[in-house]
Amino acid sequence: MKSLFENRYRRPPVHRDGAAAAAEIARIALRYLDAMRAVPGRPAAMEYFDGIMSGEERVAEVRAFRKGGGKVVGLFCNFVPEELVIALGALPVRLCAGAFPAIAPAEEVLARDICPMVKSAFGLRMMNLSYMAECDLVIVPTSCDAKKKGSRFFDQYVPTWTLDLPQAKDYDRNLALWTREIQRLRGRLEEFTGRKLTKDGLADSIRLLHRRAEAFRRFHEARRRNPCAINGRDTFLAIQATFYDDPARWTRSFDALTEEIAAVSADAETARRPRILLTGAPVIWPNWKLIHTIEEAGAVVVADTLCSGTQRLFDPVEVDEWTYDGMLRALAVKHLFPSICPCFIENAEHIDRVIELAEEFRVDGVIYHILRLCQLFDMEYNHVGASVRDKGTPLLGITTDYSLEDEEQLKTRVEAFLEMIEGKR
Ligand code: SF4
Ligand code: SF4
Repeated sequence: MKSLFENRYRRPPVHRDGAAAAAEIARIALRYLDAMRAVPGRPAAMEYFDGIMSGEERVAEVRAFRKGGGKVVGLFCNFVPEELVIALGALPVRLCAGAFPAIAPAEEVLARDICPMVKSAFGLRMMNLSYMAECDLVIVPTSCDAKKKGSRFFDQYVPTWTLDLPQAKDYDRNLALWTREIQRLRGRLEEFTGRKLTKDGLADSIRLLHRRAEAFRRFHEARRRNPCAINGRDTFLAIQATFYDDPARWTRSFDALTEEIAAVSADAETARRPRILLTGAPVIWPNWKLIHTIEEAGAVVVADTLCSGTQRLFDPVEVDEWTYDGMLRALAVKHLFPSICPCFIENAEHIDRVIELAEEFRVDGVIYHILRLCQLFDMEYNHVGASVRDKGTPLLGITTDYSLEDEEQLKTRVEAFLEMIEGKR
């Protein structure tokens, strides 16, 4: 298959030994997992998601799938329709990464001053670690400069395609263009998998992921209760298991989690914990530093607008006409318009969503996460923040990266914010 990139100045891929980094990533993950497991009353159903996120079993399943001739397609963000990948018999995995020990090797090849998420994903590729090592193809939406330019570097290791995102979510101007891009992706995926997309296959995969979104909506309702019966850390871990897991199995396990939290009556101490809405840049396992700090300081993240959290699952594909064109249009709509990613020129929906969720979940404060060197989230901060403050909701902006060096500083700032919230109650 023809590469999207020119060969004239192609560089050979640089590899680094990953043994030390893998051990360090496992140590960081275990530290956070231990803290989560130590929380009294943690839902027993979380054990399943702990296994997906920290065990080797799912990686082994993916490996076995490949050995049996299956193709694994790595994706970034939520813009790539997983439904198309599944309908063509391939297995999608989301590659957005949160591993700090993978950053140093990536800085040798990519650049230092770019977002840690892209560097982390690239470093995993250089060291042949995790799901990165299992991908036969990578699809990168052109959502920001780091992703756009990073795609050529990924292509040194594994065939990589870009998905051209419109700059604005404008139905009249951009829906036809974006739908054509999804059609183009479908053609390329057919060529790559050697299979032809069938109407029934696509309808089945749309229904499969629709059931996953419905399960998430049931959970969302249960999570809304005050006091909230599940921590933000557990919620994020369970959601991020969808990056890798079999969708039908995940949906069953997630329904069991929802049933469990809906049946629990949280105690008085839980009721006193400040309720926080987390917005801004994605928090990706095992970069749990911020959410761990917030919850270890006594608050609970009850709602979020993160693309690695609620935004990942909240909006199902809604099909009006079950024809090829109708389904592809529905995929295009779902994978663009509900997004509140800061990559779009206008993003008032981000502010709307924060304000709506803050009211709906009766939060005591909003914490806005800025990943250092991500200009997009940084530039949206003042705009979103001013609107949150106008509503009288306390706001804390935190700029950080994946290193653990600022943990103490973060703790001090979060504790001061929570004290201020307590003082206002
Ligand atoms: S914030 Fe946007 S660009 Fe960043 S990972 Fe999420 S969807 Fe992708
Ligand atoms: S956090 Fe910012 S820089 Fe990083 S991938 Fe997302 S939009 Fe791009």
